[in-house]
Amino acid sequence: MTVTMATLTNTEVEISDESLDELRAAVRGDVLTPGDAEYLRLRPPYNAMHPGKPALVVRPTGTADVVSAINFAREHQLLVAVRGGGHSIAGLSSVDGGLLLDLARMNGVDVDPEARTVRVQGGALIGDLDHETQAFGLVAPSGIVSDTGVAGLSLGGGEGWVRRKHGMAVDNLLAAQVVCADGQVRTASADTNPDLFWALRGGGGNFGVVTSFTFRCHPVGPTVAFAGVFHPVEDAENVYRRFRDWAATAPDEVSALIGCTTLPPSEHTPPEIHDTPFVVTGAVYSGDPDEGMRVLQPLRDIGTPLVDISGPLPFSGVQSAFDEFFRRGTLRSYWKATYVEELTDEIIDILVTKARSRPSKRTFVVTFLMGGAINRVGVEETAYSERSANWMVSMDGNWDDPRDDDKVIAWVRGAWAEVHERGTGSLYLNFTGVADEAVTVGVESAFDKANLQRLEEIKAHYDPDNFFRRNNNILPASYGSRD
Ligand SMILES: Cc1cc2nc3c(=O)[nH]c(=O)nc-3n(C[C@H](O)[C@H](O)[C@H](O)COP(=O)(O)OP(=O)(O)OC[C@H]3O[C@@H](n4cnc5c(N)ncnc54)[C@H](O)[C@@H]3O)c2cc1C
Repeated sequence: MTVTMATLTNTEVEISDESLDELRAAVRGDVLTPGDAEYLRLRPPYNAMHPGKPALVVRPTGTADVVSAINFAREHQLLVAVRGGGHSIAGLSSVDGGLLLDLARMNGVDVDPEARTVRVQGGALIGDLDHETQAFGLVAPSGIVSDTGVAGLSLGGGEGWVRRKHGMAVDNLLAAQVVCADGQVRTASADTNPDLFWALRGGGGNFGVVTSFTFRCHPVGPTVAFAGVFHPVEDAENVYRRFRDWAATAPDEVSALIGCTTLPPSEHTPPEIHDTPFVVTGAVYSGDPDEGMRVLQPLRDIGTPLVDISGPLPFSGVQSAFDEFFRRGTLRSYWKATYVEELTDEIIDILVTKARSRPSKRTFVVTFLMGGAINRVGVEETAYSERSANWMVSMDGNWDDPRDDDKVIAWVRGAWAEVHERGTGSLYLNFTGVADEAVTVGVESAFDKANLQRLEEIKAHYDPDNFFRRNNNILPASYGSRD
């Protein structure tokens, strides 16, 4: 039986049984079509808006399988999606009718405690990474939900609870192994293919399939000082201003956020916040936990909280604290983030107004304190180029009912635009929703102009036919002007 598949030229191609058998013979992992029972058991993507229905899934066990799958797809001109952790907000974790390269079985993590480095395969989740690094009291900077993929997060920037002390994930990348569109396996590091290495640090999945990353690690944990203080949303004006003023003098050890949402009842959260709109301040101190609790105390002294869950906590516990609210395949999500130099009173007033008019309970208006180590990296040192803002604001539309799609998406766009026009002009591609937009949405403003030009040139070199296009897509320079 043949399989009908989507191609790079928006046509369809019939893939014969013989071709599939050849692929099966070449691959040690799984080659699945919708009729296979295992197909139904695939780890679903996060965003319920974009489940995708690939005509063919390859689940490689290693780099050799990835090479076979990429060569197969290129020879048949197939549309390909690469899934690392499957947490793409933009819905780029899958593809309709094309080939899904699902790296779920490639989740190995190998720590070198002496060198303080870690090698991570391209399908590992943050939880896989933290589990191994924390065994040595180390952390490789990543994100704050343990079910997110290391790959997509790191290729787009990667901001987490140690960002101001140790930088973004991209700032800690030392090397990567990449299967490029021509099927060649390349090492990317400061010494080998340095242009590819530069592009991977912020340019997303545009340049090939990263089968492994090597990151620098830092001593953090196993216990860290954590602040988590919940206030009624009615007190938001005061809480935002006090938080902002405290943050202005916070040392780099502090990575913090403030946000407004409503959460359903859960045995893991205090009853005081169940189904109650709240504003939460959260912070982690990357250093001595006792000193950290002293530094975080002013956050706990703001107003009269609904509940304060602060205290020394295992780093791994902090990393998985939000997991249950972001279960795969449950929420529909459309997020848009932007950067602002300072959190002015005017911007706070916008955020508070938006927080009170959220279109769905689970929509999250969240502001991350950036700066510190992030801003000590030069704009052109990595493709990721927002190195001046002290804050990132994200409008995270999350909802259940497909009938609310238009309403929530319109709200996110409007709320985001009001902050964006007061910001640095750049945005964070890892938090970019895609609904009726093209996959190039946001790319132009995500990067410094010179960086985007360089990315387009590197894309033209390594992927001149834009084979890797299910991503925040950077067009090859050879495609000509964007205008
Ligand atoms: C609940 C939730 C929490 C989040 N928290 C954070 C956070 O704290 N900090 C932060 O910075 N971001 C965060 N994000 C955003 C996250 O970084 C992006 O959604 C990221 O793209 C997810 O990566 P992934 O591998 O899980 O996703 P995928 O959907 O698998 O991939 C996303 C993109 O990366 C490409 N890609 C994936 N793996 C590879 C690979 N091995 N080689 C080449 N390309 C690849 C894909 O093709 C796709 O374009 C969060 C997202 C969600 C849904």
